[in-house]
Amino acid sequence: MLHRKRSLQLAKGPMIKSALLLAAALTPGIALAQTAPSGAPIAPTFDVTAARARIDAGFDKNYPHLEALYQDIHAHPELGFQENRTAAILASEMRKLGFTVTEHVGKTGIVAIYRNGEGRTMLIRTELDALPMEEKTGLPYASHAQQTSDGRLTYVDHSCGHDIHMAWWVGTAEALLAMKDQWHGTLMFIGQPSEETVSGAKAMLADGLFTRWPKPDYGFAAHVGPDPTGTVSVKEGTLTSASDQIDITFHGRGAHGAMPDKSIDPIVMGAHFVSDVQSVISRAKAPGTFGVVTVGAFQAGTVDNIIPDHADLKLTLRSHDDDTRKLLIDGVTRTAVAVAEMAGAPAPTIDHPAGASAVQNDIGLADRAAGVLEAAFGKDVSFVPAFMPGGSASEDFSEFVNAGVPSVYFGIGGDDPTMLAQYKAQGKPVPVNHSPYFAPVPEPSIKRGVETLTLAVLMVAGTASK
Ligand SMILES: [Zn+2]
Ligand SMILES: [Zn+2]
Repeated sequence: MLHRKRSLQLAKGPMIKSALLLAAALTPGIALAQTAPSGAPIAPTFDVTAARARIDAGFDKNYPHLEALYQDIHAHPELGFQENRTAAILASEMRKLGFTVTEHVGKTGIVAIYRNGEGRTMLIRTELDALPMEEKTGLPYASHAQQTSDGRLTYVDHSCGHDIHMAWWVGTAEALLAMKDQWHGTLMFIGQPSEETVSGAKAMLADGLFTRWPKPDYGFAAHVGPDPTGTVSVKEGTLTSASDQIDITFHGRGAHGAMPDKSIDPIVMGAHFVSDVQSVISRAKAPGTFGVVTVGAFQAGTVDNIIPDHADLKLTLRSHDDDTRKLLIDGVTRTAVAVAEMAGAPAPTIDHPAGASAVQNDIGLADRAAGVLEAAFGKDVSFVPAFMPGGSASEDFSEFVNAGVPSVYFGIGGDDPTMLAQYKAQGKPVPVNHSPYFAPVPEPSIKRGVETLTLAVLMVAGTASK
């Protein structure tokens, strides 16, 4: 998941919240877009303080094991759809706890089920994958692992923090099993492969996630980010952006650089396209609606005196709603086709290898979760109402939401507040997710994740919360 920092930063503390509300009121685009109803945190219907005390007591006892698990996974990261060792370790952990585990769901995914009487089914999801990059944190348990990505050997690093997520996922399972008297229903803990390519959730669904097992009534997940440890953000409504990768090849006719009349120049086509496609953003999309089209790669040609026969472009598209998402994809396609036609070239090849829609947090469920978490953690919780825009990051957790599972996806702070203050004092940017220096502090991050996810399950399945 990319650039969570912005969305998490949007959600810090009451002072910043009120400043943001003011900014929203002063920004007509945002104000006009406020059609979704926005609620407020709803007071919990169970004893959150007592529940948290039980969660914490168990966590403190189990932590040495969770830390060892975290460090092992951190030191042995695996790329998307190659998470064989990681999945096997998590499967073994969950079997030891008494879950019934099925492996190889959506290639390397796992599904762990625990039934505790009649009741609802709760999905709790972690990602399994790491990123193709070299770790530079200098941690004693830093990764030196390498794997093959796109046919090339690369270092692998858990620089998005999915290793923290796996530890809190196991910790949440431990907490819920230790508190079986406090809830009933079915736990569906899933380890999802390949989130970073936004394709693992689709793979699990295509492999029968909601047909071979019951479709969950509620879903929960969380992401660690570069905010102070202890903080939790709860966003109503749109949380992330939709992400679409579009690959375009313009087919021209190669010729000598001195004989352009013998060519159809794909570089000229590509250049027209790069500039014209921004009209989709500036002229076709409503000004107050979020949407981005970025051409991130443009490759063509080899030397000065050859006009090549093709140009390859790779784009990322971001949006917050389905209508805008379609508008961007249609606009990009139309522009590419028109540019080729204008040049008298064959139609371009347009591929859409990956995409995911925005994660929509269920408003009612987010309001309830915010109330529970505020009762547990007080001012460390930031509640971000639906009318505030979501972040520009993307996440394929949206696949589960769109399959009909009302969900809340939380943000959990992972950085040492003293370190953050030092960075601020020195005017240096803080390492964010996907930075080779991103290094969340394990114990408080994992603990807050366990508390948050466990309280969320107790909220919807608790015997005391009817
Ligand atoms: Zn990521
Ligand atoms: Zn991530």
